[in-house]
Amino acid sequence: MFDVIVIGGGVIGGLTLRELSKYNLNCALVEAQNDVAIGQSRANSGIVHAGYDAKEGSLKAKFNVLGNKMMPRVAKELGVKYRNNGSLVVAFTNEDLVTLQTLKARGETNGVEGLTILSKDELRAKEPNISDNALGALYAPTGGIICPYELTIASIGNAMDNGAKLYTNFKVSEIVKNQDGFTVVSEKGQALDCKVIINASGLSCDKIANMVGDYSFKMGARKGEYILLDKENSNFVSHTLFFTPTKAGKGILVTQTVDNNILLGPTSTEQADGSTVTSESGLAFVIQKVKEMVKNPPLFNTITSFAGVRAYCDRHDFIIEKSSACENFINLAGIESPGLTSAPAIAEYVVKELIGSLLPLEEKADFNPERAPDYFFKNLTNEEKTQLILKNPLYGKIVCRCEEITEGEIVRAIHENPPARDLDAVKRRTRASMGRCQGGFCQPRIVEILARELGVDMTEVTKSGEGSELVWGKTK
Ligand SMILES: Cc1cc2nc3c(=O)[nH]c(=O)nc-3n(C[C@H](O)[C@H](O)[C@H](O)COP(=O)(O)OP(=O)(O)OC[C@H]3O[C@@H](n4cnc5c(N)ncnc54)[C@H](O)[C@@H]3O)c2cc1C
Repeated sequence: MFDVIVIGGGVIGGLTLRELSKYNLNCALVEAQNDVAIGQSRANSGIVHAGYDAKEGSLKAKFNVLGNKMMPRVAKELGVKYRNNGSLVVAFTNEDLVTLQTLKARGETNGVEGLTILSKDELRAKEPNISDNALGALYAPTGGIICPYELTIASIGNAMDNGAKLYTNFKVSEIVKNQDGFTVVSEKGQALDCKVIINASGLSCDKIANMVGDYSFKMGARKGEYILLDKENSNFVSHTLFFTPTKAGKGILVTQTVDNNILLGPTSTEQADGSTVTSESGLAFVIQKVKEMVKNPPLFNTITSFAGVRAYCDRHDFIIEKSSACENFINLAGIESPGLTSAPAIAEYVVKELIGSLLPLEEKADFNPERAPDYFFKNLTNEEKTQLILKNPLYGKIVCRCEEITEGEIVRAIHENPPARDLDAVKRRTRASMGRCQGGFCQPRIVEILARELGVDMTEVTKSGEGSELVWGKTK
């Protein structure tokens, strides 16, 4: 019998599991897919928002500002790259300039520090490639960037290192209430008992809540399409550039990523089926808006495009509460943007306040908050590289040439917590095949390594779980 089962291996479930693993509790996370960090936490903008967007007094405002303050420490403990690059909300009309004052006042009420309005010249001094039509900007020095799937994977890995269990390919299809709590049943018939459930299943939060008789909210899905540019242009912008928001949301942004690519997007279109297929019109809209924001964007250096799906709910704020249907079922629903930013603060609140009111919280004496980064070789000195290769010759073999990732790092990703079991899982942990060639050279090699390390035939290695096998048999 588990004390707590978390449903959903996104950043919210992941950081909550890590927080739970600080205490003497028997905890598990169940995830429908073959790996964690597959849902919204896989494909988003990766912005650690300052906190001037959300309405005063909302849960979004509260947890955004708290999460923004916690993020540098959490990222450092988990070996995840974070950069405090600051953000700029750019005005293009006189109406926008008035909105900037409103955002500044709202941010100050929310507790955001250091907000200033920049003149046209001050903005240009910070971002030389900004469009000549820009009139000024709101500068938020506390804005930052992080890799969302790296944070999710590292938090679940750290929780597992501290005793938590992970069940992948466990798609919850039924929850049975019983005397001691619940039996959580998967589509494949596996069953796990627990005292408390935390529902962090993103887009499925309403369906999972319905399983215990909670019909208090409904989820919807909105697609966001992106374009990613090569690292060659990493200095094209240094801050995160936003348009002045409208009722439709924050709009298209232009930003560096922590891995020094330039990210453009996202769009925002209703997508009832949750599909993440990009569209010609979506990407054309991104390009049009980016050209309005900056001069001569280096679009010729595009290396890929992708889409993510936002899970919003009809209550228009985060739902972070015990269910009205049963108090030992906690909903973490409608966690749309700024959910990534808010995640560390949500996790701490949920465990201390909500779990703390249901179960005794006794701190573990031996909790280890730290986790080593998943890829690191290229940042070592020559002397450090030599020492490592002498200890393990696999670090002497570069598999991904674009990102300079070694076989040692790939093998480590396959065996550490949470283990990488498919090609995309290796990619998300090590960046192997995320470079300019997008895996053209290294993917066959990674398939070989996965087959060898997992002790399976190459025909059994998948891209991202069952049904995505890559190799069908020998041709010669
Ligand atoms: C396009 C886009 C841009 C964004 N940009 C930002 C940003 O810049 N900054 C920011 O702060 N936030 C941003 N966000 C919001 C942020 O991504 C989310 O708030 C956050 O990722 C939500 O995490 P989650 O864990 O709640 O959900 P998810 O990451 O979606 O995780 C839910 C998990 O539950 C699993 N699951 C579903 N059903 C079941 C089931 N039946 N059984 C078991 N498991 C199940 C799913 O497979 C999934 O892995 C953005 C979101 C999107 C989509």
